[in-house]
Amino acid sequence: MYVLPGMHKLPPLPYPYDALEPVIGAETLKIHHNKHHKSYVDGLNRAELYLVEARKTNDIEYIKYWENELAFNGSGHILHSLYWTIMAPVGRGGQPGPRTVYHVNQYFGSLEAMKNQFILASENVEGSGWGILTWQPTWGRLEILQAEKHQNLTEWSGIPILVCDVWEHAYYLDYQNRRSDYVNSWWQLINWNEVERRLIDAMNGRVTLVQD
Ligand code: MN
Repeated sequence: MYVLPGMHKLPPLPYPYDALEPVIGAETLKIHHNKHHKSYVDGLNRAELYLVEARKTNDIEYIKYWENELAFNGSGHILHSLYWTIMAPVGRGGQPGPRTVYHVNQYFGSLEAMKNQFILASENVEGSGWGILTWQPTWGRLEILQAEKHQNLTEWSGIPILVCDVWEHAYYLDYQNRRSDYVNSWWQLINWNEVERRLIDAMNGRVTLVQD
């Protein structure tokens, strides 16, 4: 896939806005997708188009600002696109697939241990950010990361396969300040079929973060 600069689109949700109730309310999901995610897409397109122009004219006075916009909005677009697809209505996400189980057991010891670390990591993100399970091709294993905002504390070359949005806009209407309740409840939304597919893709060097 090759996406032309400035041509990113807001991907449609793979389910209706009320599909994740009661874990995530329709109002939250609608604002989150239609306003927040959309603004990342718009911001990414704006930054890319500016940089296309800047390269032509060699006008790099505001390079720091636009590189920051690029990293912030690009990471926001990618992680939100992933977040929508790794959730499913309660009871519809299936069970962890064989490859997921194998690699979770190999490194974390058990699904329960991975779950505990993932939930604790997500709960304890400082400020806004994400809990992220990545396939780290450099080490040939899974890892759990905390991202602050979207672009900080990344471990380069890691391929995220399961992410939890812990920005307040993801849960505040439903859970107010109770991030822990949100994350624990959110766990039942995970679409394990999609996680397995993403893990196999990542292990084969394929990354399909955005389903445009
Ligand atoms: Mn978000």
